[in-house]
Amino acid sequence: MTTKRFIPVAAPVLNGNEKAYVMDCLDSTWISSSGKYIERFEQNFAGFCAVKHAAACCNGTVALHLALMALGVKPKDEVIVPTLTFVSTANAVVYCGARPVFVDSEPDTWNMNPNLIEAKITPRTKGIIVVHLYGHPVDMDTVMSIARRHKLFVIEDAAEAHGAEYKGRRIGSLADIATFSFYGNKIITTGEGGMVVTNDDSLITKVRQLKGQGMDPNTRYWFPVVGYNYRMTNVAAAIGLAQLERVQWHIDRRREVARWYYESLKDNPALILPVEKEWAKNVYWMFTVVLHDDVTKNRDQVMKELAAEGIETRPVFYPMHTLPPYTRLSRGQRFPVADRLGSRGMNLPTWAGLKREEVAFISGVVKECVGGPAL
Ligand SMILES: *Cc1c(COP(=O)(O)O)cnc(C)c1O
Repeated sequence: MTTKRFIPVAAPVLNGNEKAYVMDCLDSTWISSSGKYIERFEQNFAGFCAVKHAAACCNGTVALHLALMALGVKPKDEVIVPTLTFVSTANAVVYCGARPVFVDSEPDTWNMNPNLIEAKITPRTKGIIVVHLYGHPVDMDTVMSIARRHKLFVIEDAAEAHGAEYKGRRIGSLADIATFSFYGNKIITTGEGGMVVTNDDSLITKVRQLKGQGMDPNTRYWFPVVGYNYRMTNVAAAIGLAQLERVQWHIDRRREVARWYYESLKDNPALILPVEKEWAKNVYWMFTVVLHDDVTKNRDQVMKELAAEGIETRPVFYPMHTLPPYTRLSRGQRFPVADRLGSRGMNLPTWAGLKREEVAFISGVVKECVGGPAL
């Protein structure tokens, strides 16, 4: 019997103090949502992002909800978001009763195209959520200057980009507030988890109040506003702290995996590869390839053939304007770049434990499936 090889598209690597810290939580019975790991994880994560404050919460989606609420987003407001993102970015806007307004992607970084933002601003627009897609930072100077000109807030959805840099500065510190996810497939993980970071004292106070049922920070059991229970547990924070201690290793490993993919795939005319702009440090959450227009085989067929070889992949996100809850909101608008990326792009396995030989194997099968350099 042959055991077929299986390479997952993502997997966590827990090779630091994760187990010791979790055992410490169990031994000490500090397993709920207060404890020293929460405090240390928040403090160290703020330091990692070079910001003053960090507030842990139970996932990256509620981190976005908290950020939007702290910024005062209300029903009928509009918030500009990229159409090419994970669904949470748009859903969090809807949780506030507000309306996401979609913007198409740039052809090279695949992030929201800053040149298309101004055309979408209306009197109802309150802010912009940028997404550092697949680990490549957004051109923040351009976005921030548009936002300042129109008096809009900016949230960085940094769920896919822990440790990425823009002009030498850490993402997470570049706008009014930023949010992270620690889901199992992200750059570092807590199983499920999220973080809100900011330099703004009043925003973090609101976030802390809202994530803890709305309780008055000075009067126990007095609830002046309707809040939520969006807290992270000390056990999750224990995992997060251990992951954060080794975050540079996680990032270096991902960049090495990306380098191996580039070496094997860069001369293949059938494939469009991710970029790293001269002002950017890409942390390669997902090494993503897009089939060139000349490739006749379709993306789903290529993914099926890779799966048959034990290689798990994911399609690039379906753009938000194509999803049933959002088609009506974007009727009559065109998003040709995101449409092409969404239908012709796929994420190859990208995680810190991948071996060079596995990347070589994956690249070989990809080249075979799409037709190779002789196309
Ligand atoms: C993963 C992700 C989120 C949501 O994070 P969860 O922790 O899964 O809730 C939000 N935005 C983007 C861009 C993501 O990739």
